Amino acid sequence: MLKENLEHVEEEILKACERSGRLREEVTLIAVSKTKPAGTLEEAYRLGVRIFGENKVQELAEKYDLLPKDIRWHMIGHLQRNKIKYIIGKTELIHSVDSIRLAEAIEKEAAKRKLTADILIEVNVAGEESKFGLRPQELDEFVDEVSKFPHIRVKGLMTIAPYVENPEENRPVFAHLRKLSVDIAAKNAHNINMSVLSMGMTNDYQVAIEEGATMVRVGTGIFGARDYTQTNAG
Ligand SMILES: *Cc1c(COP(=O)(O)O)cnc(C)c1O
Repeated sequence: MLKENLEHVEEEILKACERSGRLREEVTLIAVSKTKPAGTLEEAYRLGVRIFGENKVQELAEKYDLLPKDIRWHMIGHLQRNKIKYIIGKTELIHSVDSIRLAEAIEKEAAKRKLTADILIEVNVAGEESKFGLRPQELDEFVDEVSKFPHIRVKGLMTIAPYVENPEENRPVFAHLRKLSVDIAAKNAHNINMSVLSMGMTNDYQVAIEEGATMVRVGTGIFGARDYTQTNAG
C-alpha cells in the first residue's frame, strides 16, 4: 500500500509541476509520519523516503534515535519554547515559528550549541481563530526582529490552509502566501531568504504546487489515515 501511495503522490506532484511549467526538482515532498510507528517509517525509508515531517517534539526525538542518521527531519507542529532543546541540531528545518519569543528561544539554544537553525515563519493567511501562525500584518515587524538573530536563518514561509471540500477553495490562500514571500524578499533583510514556500497537504498539494509551493507536507496520502487512539504521543 505504501509503495502505491508514494507512487501516486509522486505522479500527482509531477503532473502539477508540468501543468504549471515548473521542474520536479523545485518541489520537495515531506512525508508526514506523525502518529505512525517507527517500523512504518523504516518501510518508507526502504522505498527511498529521506525527509520526514513530525509535529511533536518527543515523537520526533524518539524516532530520530531509532532510525537511520541520513534522514532529514522537519518539525512542522506547534512548538513550546521549553522543548526546543530536544530538537535543535536534529531538525533540518523548523516550519512552525510563529512568535518572536519562540524565535528568541531558538536563537539562544542554537547559539549555545554553536549552530545555525533554519526556520520558516508560519503564517495564518486565512485568519482562522483556531490556527497558530502570524497574521500577515504582523510579518513586517517579525522580520525586522528576527533578522537580528545571528543563529537563525529564515528560509521562507509556511501555512496550514483551512480544511475545505474542494481544494480550489484554497488557491487564494496559497497565492496570498506567495505574494507575502515576494514582498518580504524585496526587503532584503539580513538573514532572511524567501526560497521556501511550505504549503499544501494531502487534500490540496496539487493546487499548492500550481501556486508556487516548494515544499508539500503529505501525511494521509502516503501513510493512510491516522489512528489517534493508538498513539501515546501527546
Ligand atoms: C498532519 C500535518 C500535515 C499532513 O496532513 P495530511 O492531511 O495528512 O496530509 C501537514 N502539515 C502539518 C502542519 C500537519 O500537522
